[in-house]
Amino acid sequence: MTAEANHILLLAGTSEARQLGKTLAETFPESRLTASFAGVVRDLPDLGVPTRVGGFGGVEGLLAYLRQEKITAIVDATHPFAAQMSHNAAEAAKTLKLPLLRLERPSWQPGESDRWTHVVSMDEAAMALPTGARAFLAIGRKEIERFTHRTDIFGLARMIEPPPAPLPGSWELLLSRPPTSAAEEISLFRDRNITHVVTKNSGGSRSIAKIEAARALKLPVIMIARPQLPDAETAPTVAALVDRLRQILANRN
Ligand code: NAP
Repeated sequence: MTAEANHILLLAGTSEARQLGKTLAETFPESRLTASFAGVVRDLPDLGVPTRVGGFGGVEGLLAYLRQEKITAIVDATHPFAAQMSHNAAEAAKTLKLPLLRLERPSWQPGESDRWTHVVSMDEAAMALPTGARAFLAIGRKEIERFTHRTDIFGLARMIEPPPAPLPGSWELLLSRPPTSAAEEISLFRDRNITHVVTKNSGGSRSIAKIEAARALKLPVIMIARPQLPDAETAPTVAALVDRLRQILANRN
């Protein structure tokens, strides 16, 4: 196999995937590179590389795509809570004996003064909120329905795309991406008299502002642990992943 024959599939959907699109294209100029988005959000970022959009159709669909496109390596840079895609990628890579590298940013850790309640599911997070709480819910459109039975609280739900079903009438929906500055989050939490912050343990810097704001305002945080992901080789950063991919591709050529 020649270096030209490499075709890397980048499973995207995170800020790291954006960095990877650029870095992989620069590092492996002789390889083909295709980025893939689920297509959940409408304003997709331009990764600067050829892109496909939409689900593959489960493991079978992914296998067909990998064969058809002669993919030689998969980079899974999906969100830590996008477990289904990671499972499908791991299974397909195993079947076709393709190298798979997953970018796995470290989880957020509480500081000494942080008041975190650790939970393992959306349902447990919903139950952890006391009656009368004014909760900031950094929960996506897919999972928000796990909280909407809590009509005894005020929920300020922020997500990028609207939820499939309406939220309780007394709640507020904020359709936006998370801000990068803690000051903006502090101002939002103050303005809505937020008493609790509910968030997935996404890790990384892109959406850490809400954690910093909760810390600054001494707000309790309900922290939802990550789902179990399949066994796969992982790298914690873009740079580490690119280094490892370089070795893998060199060994294949
Ligand atoms: P998921 O539950 O793991 O995946 C559901 C289905 O969406 C997959 O089975 C696959 O469909 C399709 N899919 C997911 N990622 C894809 C990709 N990069 N390219 C093509 N198809 C993809 O994922 P999710 O939680 O719905 O997340 C969807 C996307 O949003 C992911 O790319 C993820 O990185 C991003 N995202 C998720 C979160 C979150 O909290 N879950 C947060 C930020 C960003 P088929 O089975 O038909 O192939």
